[in-house]
Formats: sequence, structure tokens, C-alpha cells
Amino acid sequence: MIKIDIATLFPEMCETVLGTSIIGRARKAGLLDIRCWQIRDYTVDKHRNVDDTPYGPGKGMLMQAVPMYRSWEVVCVYRGGRPHVIYMSPQGRTLTQKRARELAQMEHLYIMCGHYEGVDQRVLDEIVDEEISIGDYVLTGGELGALVLADCVGRLCPGVLADESCFTEESHWDGLLEYPQYTKPAVWHGVEVPQIITNGNHAAISRWRREMSLKNTFEKRPELLEKAVLSEKDKWYLRTLGWQDPNGAQEE
Ligand code: SAM
Repeated sequence: MIKIDIATLFPEMCETVLGTSIIGRARKAGLLDIRCWQIRDYTVDKHRNVDDTPYGPGKGMLMQAVPMYRSWEVVCVYRGGRPHVIYMSPQGRTLTQKRARELAQMEHLYIMCGHYEGVDQRVLDEIVDEEISIGDYVLTGGELGALVLADCVGRLCPGVLADESCFTEESHWDGLLEYPQYTKPAVWHGVEVPQIITNGNHAAISRWRREMSLKNTFEKRPELLEKAVLSEKDKWYLRTLGWQDPNGAQEE
């Protein structure tokens, strides 16, 4: 079972989210071992300060190295080993499904949430293995990113979702976006569910889903097609939509 430790100034906020819905149920069922740690508990001064002014000109406060480092040390002792340490940061590589899959294979992740203007660089240099961003924008703290990361890694862990196909047939698994899905009633606001998915012909449904997946990707995120693994049949279908294969010949 994967262990995920989150070091934060707002453990209650993280617990609220991670105690809810699928991830919350998986934790209760013992499928995910996620813990949130209060960085302030590892301060050494009587005021329990976690931040101070940065050296040099400039506004704002910076999280100090001591409590960040001590909370990491405590978790290493508690867990009996060194985790893979991730610092949530707008300077990191943007999180992808591919990286989430790789992280879900690890035994133990430690996610550090910064706040204010960030964290003293020395502690980052000493313990962080990678920086992860959730997008090219700046948040007030690392918690929302840590929750995104814990959620998307957690749902890939064994037993958390009903079946592996819940994520292997989803957007971004194989570089494409998912096909459209429908549920009851069969007719809603005068619009019928596509007949092909109601006729029980699994091969036809499978081909239709593949084509809709290609179409969705072409229409919404055409740049993803450059890296997707496409069969000749896929390429033929995409060409009927107006796609031009950047890598090659246009023969039918
Ligand atoms: N001064 C920092 C900079 O310019 O790189 C930004 C600090 S930000 C206001 C405070 C904290 O929020 C960061 O330490 C980081 O943990 C978190 N954070 C902000 N934006 C983020 C993003 N896009 N992805 C992940 N974490 C982010």
C-alpha cells in the first residue's frame, strides 16, 4: 500500500478533502495510507513561528528551513525510511497523468506544501527530489496542488477504483481524450443515445469509442495527437476529419 505524507500548515483543510468520497473510502478501507503533518508542530521557538522575512530587499515572508526539515525528519523516523520528496511549486514540472502513474508505483511519497513567498532554498536543496507544479499560475499555498497530486496518484493505486479499466480507458491514459459517455434515460430533451452503443455489438462499440476518442482529441486538444500511438486505421479516420499527419505521407 502506498504511503503519502503531506507536510502543511493546514492539515485540517487537507484532511477534509482527503477524507471525502473515493479517496476517503479507500483510506478507511486500508488501501491508501495518507497522513497530513502540521509543520508548525516542528518549530523550535516558543512562538511556533514557521516564517521569517527574506534576506535582501523584497516583501513577504518565507518558510524557514528548520520546521520544514524537522517535520521531514520526524516522518522518516515514523515511517522507517526515506520517502521520495516532492515540493509543490509553480517552478516545478507540470503534473501529467504519465508522472502520476510513475509516482503511484512508488512506496512512499512525501509532499511539501510551501506558503507565503515560498521556502528557504537550503532545505529544498537538501531534501527535495522533484518539484511539481499543477499549472503555470501561482497559488497562495501548496495545499491545493498536494491534494490534486494525492487524489490523482491515489486513484491509480490497486483496489481504489472498482476496476483498472476505470482509468485505462480514460482521458490521458494512452495520450488521447476519452469518448463521450451516456446514461439513462435513453432519450433526454429529445436527444437519443447513439444507437451503436445500445445494440450489444462489442466490436462495433469498441471501434466507435476509439473513433470518438480520436475525434474528441482532434477537436479539443489536437496537439496531443502528435505524441499519441496511432494505428493506420486511426490515421485514416483522423484524415476524414481533416487532420494532417505531421509525420508523414497522406496515402490512403
Ligand atoms: N515565490 C514563489 C515563486 O515565485 O516561485 C511562489 C510562492 S507561492 C505564493 C506559495 C506556495 O504555493 C509555494 O511555495 C508552493 O508550495 C505553492 N504553489 C504556488 N503555485 C503553485 C503551483 N502552480 N503548483 C504547485 N504549488 C504551487
